[in-house]
Amino acid sequence: MKELESILGSENVKYNEPMSKHTTFKVGGIADIFITVDSKEKLLKTLEMLKNEKITIVGNGSNLLVTDKGIRGIVLKYTANTCEINDTIVKVDSGMTNARLANTLLNKKLTGYEFAAGIPGTIGGAIVMNAGAYGREMKDVVLETEFLDFETNEIKVFKNEESNFEYRKSIFENKKGIILSATFKFEHGNKNEIDEKMKEYAQKRKDSQPLDMPSAGSTFKRGNGFITAKLIDEAGLKGYSIGGAEVSTKHAGFIVNKGNATEKDIIDLIKYVQKEIYQKFGERIEPEIKIIGE
Ligand SMILES: Cc1cc2nc3c(=O)[nH]c(=O)nc-3n(C[C@H](O)[C@H](O)[C@H](O)COP(=O)(O)OP(=O)(O)OC[C@H]3O[C@@H](n4cnc5c(N)ncnc54)[C@H](O)[C@@H]3O)c2cc1C
Repeated sequence: MKELESILGSENVKYNEPMSKHTTFKVGGIADIFITVDSKEKLLKTLEMLKNEKITIVGNGSNLLVTDKGIRGIVLKYTANTCEINDTIVKVDSGMTNARLANTLLNKKLTGYEFAAGIPGTIGGAIVMNAGAYGREMKDVVLETEFLDFETNEIKVFKNEESNFEYRKSIFENKKGIILSATFKFEHGNKNEIDEKMKEYAQKRKDSQPLDMPSAGSTFKRGNGFITAKLIDEAGLKGYSIGGAEVSTKHAGFIVNKGNATEKDIIDLIKYVQKEIYQKFGERIEPEIKIIGE
């Protein structure tokens, strides 16, 4: 892999890298090779070199549970983060974080992305997940997404309506490839109002979410006609733990890592919560987090 190091720099090619360092849950076994790629030019060269390798794409690892056995092959994190602004149309590399984009837009007095400022991932991860908060989702602001398909080796632009955005789902979930960039449409706004809204949302998160403990956000999806976290709370599961994994005492929808959780602890706890909710309320709840690895 010397060639990889010559494209990316040796500091960006890590062997036997613990995925616990690259996930907000701080859980996960070893990735055989973990590479960080910071530009489209380097990405294209890297992919050309890795044509026959198994590649797993990660963003900020904020919606991921990586197995204790880890990930074979290459894990690629794309960190390109340039942003082009033409009036209200904004094109952004997928490696930019939501927080950085929200702050850039604040300075340009553009409104529409305040809802995503506190979602601790990248633009790529937010599009794949159709991430959302406070009544808005990526599908409300994305015009189109530039995607490099690993199967055809072609770059295709998916319009919003071709992206099959649904609640925490998109067409990109089941495609082999990488989102390169996304183009958004925002509106001109008032800087103080944008700032106030971002502060209000940040405060709401601080008040209701266990931001001081490792997690991957809401562990389960919203229920069909019920609020999942409310059922978990009513089932008396807040604070219930298996090994190092615990149903947050602050927000029943979050499973947190108390410090030494393994993937197995978290999976066992997810299964336990699912079983209890089914037995007590007859409802099936489904994880929102993505489980990856061997
Ligand atoms: C404290 C906390 C609060 C959260 N709050 C919210 C919230 O309010 N709303 C919400 O929707 N989510 C929330 N989340 C979950 C998470 O932040 C989002 O799902 C986020 O969009 C994931 O982005 P990421 O960059 O971390 O992606 P990752 O978790 O790294 O990856 C998620 C998926 O996207 C894929 N992916 C990532 N980047 C690319 C790319 N460039 N090309 C192709 N595929 C890619 C990965 O392969 C994986 O399948 C929260 C998480 C935490 C820890």
